[in-house]
Amino acid sequence: MTASGESGAPATTSDPDCVFCSILAGKIPSAAVRESERIYAFRDIAPQAAVHVLVIPRTHEYANAGEIASGDPELAAELLREAAAVAKGEGLAEGGYRIVLNTGHHAGQTVYHVHAHVLGGEPLGRFGA
Ligand code: 5GP
Repeated sequence: MTASGESGAPATTSDPDCVFCSILAGKIPSAAVRESERIYAFRDIAPQAAVHVLVIPRTHEYANAGEIASGDPELAAELLREAAAVAKGEGLAEGGYRIVLNTGHHAGQTVYHVHAHVLGGEPLGRFGA
C-alpha cells in the first residue's frame, strides 16, 4: 500500500488484537533499540540468546516474510537493513549473528505481524527440529 496520510507519512495499519501493534501504540511497554519512520526494534521479552532483538514494520499489513517481500519489497529490504544495523549497534557484527523470520506454526510463529529476530552475543546452536 502506498497511500499517504495527511502528514505525508506512509499510512499504516494496526490490529487491536496484535501484541506488536499494542507495543507500537505504547499500550504495552517495550525496550527500544532502534527506530525509524517505518521500522521499530525492541528487545524480546523472553530472550533466546544473550542479545535478542525484534525488528518490525510499523504497519500490520504483512504477516510474514513472503507477504512483505511480495507486497512491499522496499520495506522488506529496510527490515533487513535495520536488522543488520541492530546487530552492528549491539556489537554482534564481528562475532556473527542470526536473523530469523519464523513463518507459520511449524516454525513456531506466534505473532502474525512480520518480524525479524536478531540473535547473537554468544555462540548459537545449530537450528533444526
Ligand atoms: P515468533 O514466535 O512469532 O517468531 O516471535 C514472537 C516473539 O515475540 C517471541 O520471541 C516472544 O518472546 C516475543 N513477544 C511476545 N510478546 C511480547 C511482548 O509483549 N513484548 C516483547 N518485548 N516481546 C514479546
